[in-house]
Amino acid sequence: MKQTRRTFLSKSSLGIIGSSLLGVPTACALDTMTTENKESDFTPTVISTWANHKANNAAWKIIEQGGTALDAVEAGAKVPEADVQDRSVGYGGRPDREGLVTLDACIMDEEGNAGSVCFLQGIKHPISVARLVMEKTPHVILAGKGAQQFALENGFEVENLLTEKSLQEWEEWKKTSKYKPVINIERHDTIGMLALDQKGNLSGACTTSGLAYKMHGRVGDSPIIGAGMFVDNEVGAAAATGMGELVLKSLGSFLVVEFMRQGMSPTDACKAAVMRIVNKQKDYKEFQVGYIAINKKGEYGGYAIQSGFQYVINQDKDSVEQKAVSFL
Ligand code: ASP
Repeated sequence: MKQTRRTFLSKSSLGIIGSSLLGVPTACALDTMTTENKESDFTPTVISTWANHKANNAAWKIIEQGGTALDAVEAGAKVPEADVQDRSVGYGGRPDREGLVTLDACIMDEEGNAGSVCFLQGIKHPISVARLVMEKTPHVILAGKGAQQFALENGFEVENLLTEKSLQEWEEWKKTSKYKPVINIERHDTIGMLALDQKGNLSGACTTSGLAYKMHGRVGDSPIIGAGMFVDNEVGAAAATGMGELVLKSLGSFLVVEFMRQGMSPTDACKAAVMRIVNKQKDYKEFQVGYIAINKKGEYGGYAIQSGFQYVINQDKDSVEQKAVSFL
């Protein structure tokens, strides 16, 4: 679905004519044009971390129908949040070391608006709460009980997100763990999703139950704007997965977008942000961090410390999986 500036402008002019006929001031139509993609041509795209095919396809459906990137990333992120098989996001996610499932999520739109929830318990769709924080409050982040209270005030319900399977695994883990949070490079499945819609606007979402068996109260990179995810509609967007502490300390997603602003391709920008960690963190070999990125043309890429990181792309109705290049 390649969009050229010409096709976009002709759609906009139709919009202007349509609006004038309906008596809507032309300024409104012109307003919508200010968010137009300035690139000469671009390809609407959805990208997400790991093998999140179902999530990507749900987001793509919205893009295909002319919906906004913001609606697409929210709808996409909700898929693993509700999926009991997904052990690192929402319902079915692994608990912290006290046996409690605590959730982190953030969302950002093309105007730079952002919303986030962290250390949220009992709410199945933290990404939708994050969106409401963005749209209904003067704040960016709500945490813990306050985030839950806000969710309840907005019609969400408290549910038990800890499944029997996760509970049993946690009981097993307690026997051998010596009660220390485990760092396991395989257990990272956070979904970070970025979308470029038919108008050429970018949005992003990120949602996770975080590191399995983390300390109670631990907040990762995923709900922190610029760490777990970042969108700048002039340049591009990026999202992270993996060891949140390393992403937090390097403000990884913001860094990726800034590297793209300097002219790097999405893959090179992701690589440069991974190298920032590799060069500063002596024990980097023990951790996984992976980034995905997209620019205004719909060019995309990813890079990770460890091999085994993949991401999923839609530029058409069928999602395609790509293996990210890695440092190790
Ligand atoms: N980045 C997430 C966190 O540190 C974990 C993950 O990607 O699995 O909370």
